[in-house]
Amino acid sequence: DDRDLDVVTFLASRPHSGVVALVDAATGRRITFPELWRSVAGAAAALASPPLSLRKGDVALILSPNSVHFPVAALAAMSLGVVVTTANPINTPAEIAKQVADARPVLAFTTRDLLPKLPRAAGGSLLRVILLESTLLPSDATDPRVVATIDEISATPPDPTLQQNRKITQDDQATLLYSSGTTGPSKGVVATHRNLISMVQIIMNRFRLERSDAAETFLCTVPMFHVYGLVAFATGLLGCGATVVVLSKFELPEMLRSINEYGVTYLPLVPPILVAMVAHPKPLPLGKLRKVLSGGAPLGKELIEGFREKYPQVEILQGYGLTESTAIGASTDSAEESRRYGTAGLLSPNTEAKIVDPDSGEALPVNRTGELWLRGPYVMKGYFKNTEATQSTVTPDGWLKTGDLCYIDEDGYLFVVDRLKELIKYKGYQVPPAELEALLLTHPEITDVAVIPFPDREVGQFPMAYVVRKKGSNLSDREVMEFVAKQVAPYKKVRKVAFVTDIPKNASGKILRKDLIKLATSKLIWEGILL
Ligand code: ATP
Repeated sequence: DDRDLDVVTFLASRPHSGVVALVDAATGRRITFPELWRSVAGAAAALASPPLSLRKGDVALILSPNSVHFPVAALAAMSLGVVVTTANPINTPAEIAKQVADARPVLAFTTRDLLPKLPRAAGGSLLRVILLESTLLPSDATDPRVVATIDEISATPPDPTLQQNRKITQDDQATLLYSSGTTGPSKGVVATHRNLISMVQIIMNRFRLERSDAAETFLCTVPMFHVYGLVAFATGLLGCGATVVVLSKFELPEMLRSINEYGVTYLPLVPPILVAMVAHPKPLPLGKLRKVLSGGAPLGKELIEGFREKYPQVEILQGYGLTESTAIGASTDSAEESRRYGTAGLLSPNTEAKIVDPDSGEALPVNRTGELWLRGPYVMKGYFKNTEATQSTVTPDGWLKTGDLCYIDEDGYLFVVDRLKELIKYKGYQVPPAELEALLLTHPEITDVAVIPFPDREVGQFPMAYVVRKKGSNLSDREVMEFVAKQVAPYKKVRKVAFVTDIPKNASGKILRKDLIKLATSKLIWEGILL
């Protein structure tokens, strides 16, 4: 429906009589739907007029941890046809400068703390900044980039003529999100309004989220700069008309307090947080929580079972997807489905999928493993200013090559084996590290693990495991290797083990294999000092 496109009209037309739209978990600040609409429309009017004068197609950057200001900035920009790009606040100034040089934003929304990380200029002109704060401080005036705060521009009178003047179609660009960069350089992924709207509808449909005032309360602790968090708040605010409680960063006690205090019903998470919830000696109080979604990285069987046992009242859902698919291409929508060991679930509605042999390009039958190709209304428009990468990732007839090695069983359940780019090449064989990780996690004395390729002159690469042992365990590297060797074909054997206290992971819960590979190949390891 074309009306769904214009977020300002959309929000304004909803009968949210005073229902709370956003809650800042840290301060308790509440923003009702009418206030949110008023803020978004006011901010949009300010962005569209001098001195900012943003136009359709311009890019605006948001560099911020999760906050109630984040959705206001994003929705105001999108309502004008301004493309929203986001950056991970933990990125270094050099990484942020690189992204700014690529995306060329004409405006940045950021917090006072993060301001020093932003470059002074973008594309040769001063990068103007709207601070995601309530009021300006006298010291802000010393930075020539700072124009105003989000609360100031939100107080601008809305401009009703804006709606007639902007002609946004569903195929216009809405966001420019950069992929996590787990397997290579991070790439700018362009999503359209259609991509986002279709994803909101898919999530509501698959996870049976109600569209009625105050029926659901979301907790948004997954990062809003990532497609996962962005789609989460868009689903809550625009799709469900739900209250979205915002946590700026993940901390278990704070998360629990918010769940109970605000009556949270739906909670999107990444696997490491589920690990913390399951590892807790006693079941944690979860109030009205009914659904937990796990996404961003594989979810092990042990974890699902551990969660079910501890929290039988909460349904555990799983979503599989990529930035390039605007979040979820497949998901488990009920307890029964996720019990099918290892599945990432059924395809999203309006989705076609095929499994393709990466060498021959031929489509493979059920239960055969190859690269997953997806086609659906949420497949990205393409990579930003990178036709070559777009052409090698999206076919002219709309298939997205996911880069994930998968199979689909006879009942249509998707299984993710590993990422093509992360396969370990041992002699002529390919070893999926995720398979070895899943196996190692079944060892009673292992709490976490990462398997990486270790370079070797003779065999090319062999699997090496970084292992976190249970407290007090004396498990030896030999025992770890024997445990694997007994259960896999010889080419998959783990041939080196190092014990560590934790496994580095990124915001979407993925193992930072690149960091571990660097560590493994560092001189210390070669000299046997770390092993
Ligand atoms: P880059 O492409 O720059 O390396 P990235 O692919 O890590 O970045 P994301 O878009 O955040 O960036 O990650 C998508 C990938 O995450 C998928 O291709 C898949 O490998 C993995 N993934 C996401 N959800 C799941 C899941 N439920 N089960 C298994 N893997 C998942």
